[in-house]
Amino acid sequence: SHKNSCEATIIPHQTLVAEPIATTTTDNTPPPCFNDNKFLVSVEVCLKPSSTARLEEVQRAVERMLEKRSMSYVDGLVRIPEDDLFLVENVQRICICDTEEWVKNNDVLLFWQVKPVVHAFQLTEEGPCEELGADGQPASFNEWILPAKEFDGLWESLIYESGLKQQLLRYAATALLFTQKGVNPNLVSCNRIILLHGPPGTGKTSLCKALAQKLSIRFNSRYPHCQLIEVNAHSLFSKWFSESGKLVAKLFQKIQEMVEEDNNLVFVLIDEVESLAAARKAALSGSEPSDSIRVVNALLTQMDKLKSAPNVIILTTSNITTAIDVAFVDRADIKAYVGPPTLHVRYEILRSCVEELICKGIISSFQGYDGLSLPSFSSLKEKANATEIHDTDTVPWFCKQLIEAAKACEGLSGRSLRKLPFLAHSALSDPYSHDPSNFLCTMIETAKREMSELP
Ligand code: ADP
Repeated sequence: SHKNSCEATIIPHQTLVAEPIATTTTDNTPPPCFNDNKFLVSVEVCLKPSSTARLEEVQRAVERMLEKRSMSYVDGLVRIPEDDLFLVENVQRICICDTEEWVKNNDVLLFWQVKPVVHAFQLTEEGPCEELGADGQPASFNEWILPAKEFDGLWESLIYESGLKQQLLRYAATALLFTQKGVNPNLVSCNRIILLHGPPGTGKTSLCKALAQKLSIRFNSRYPHCQLIEVNAHSLFSKWFSESGKLVAKLFQKIQEMVEEDNNLVFVLIDEVESLAAARKAALSGSEPSDSIRVVNALLTQMDKLKSAPNVIILTTSNITTAIDVAFVDRADIKAYVGPPTLHVRYEILRSCVEELICKGIISSFQGYDGLSLPSFSSLKEKANATEIHDTDTVPWFCKQLIEAAKACEGLSGRSLRKLPFLAHSALSDPYSHDPSNFLCTMIETAKREMSELP
């Protein structure tokens, strides 16, 4: 299908991406990122906090190192050669990303098929700089310098079916490319506003932050400075509406200043945009002071102004899953539905939790599986060669337990799933027993209990 062709497709204005987007390449279609007959593979290089080397220097050193090695490219860490003193001194980790998009059936990409695209970066450790509201009100926005230590690994921790993350990354990359090249917005419309909508706890806010972090890394040669401003729309509607108006003005003045700097890439994350719509509606029906409508309108006007700047991406989330019909939402070019976790995703989330507990020594590893990593859902499926993994002897017993747990969690959000191992551990009769099977049994029971307590 055309979705697999070279250009990333921008979803037309009204379309909601409710359906997962297929990204695996079919036989004859060229892979999406193909240059010089080679697969473009991103290699992210994280500098040590102590390093004072220039990013370009490190990038080149890694490029040279990769040229020398005849390795295969799979997602994950690359060992830093011990005799490369420059890299040993300056680099914390080298990570290959996104290859899974090009390979199918557990194939591997070999070095001669690949053109590595190296991105070197150093995480900032400053943490958010909070802007306090007046009179000790909760902060109305947070500011982060990207890439931030807090968001490290967030992208990888979010698991979705069917290339949702890759697709978002490509939308944003295309949008940035278009503005970088000065594509006339009157001819090709593209306004750099992204809306993620879906039920609560499906990882929308985290995905926005992770996307901003990724883009700050991937685009750092064009935009060496990058910030994320996180606005909680809900907090703008405190009872102090007159304050809110001022807050919005202050906020956008600040953003405008950032955007004027050509080397800055600015992300504005507006969470829970549905509260804007609600406030507007309430104001119209007279149940809220008309001040609130002024705040919303101010926000929309400011956003429209900001739209013309090439170096800003506005990320929004909404928990409303049905028709979202707001002036605000109409402005979004890219709307993606983030749905509840499927069985596959639930298994993978629980697997990553259990792996973490094994890694930290809370539970011991499973017999016959000394390593930290447990079999993935797709590898089990392949082995079982059937849809019903449960009935197969080739699947280790603990994996069946993990699948049972994942089945028991149908209806739980990603957020609740990540809490489940914690609840399970606290329900253990002997918290100092490291027995992994016992732990899984308790987790299944906990899942069932959680399910029975859902509203
Ligand atoms: P939302 O904004 O949709 O309410 P959040 O971004 O607040 O959701 O998600 C909270 C947490 O739940 C995330 O940080 C993550 O740990 C977990 N989570 C939710 N969905 C997923 C997912 N699909 N894969 C992995 N973790 C998830």
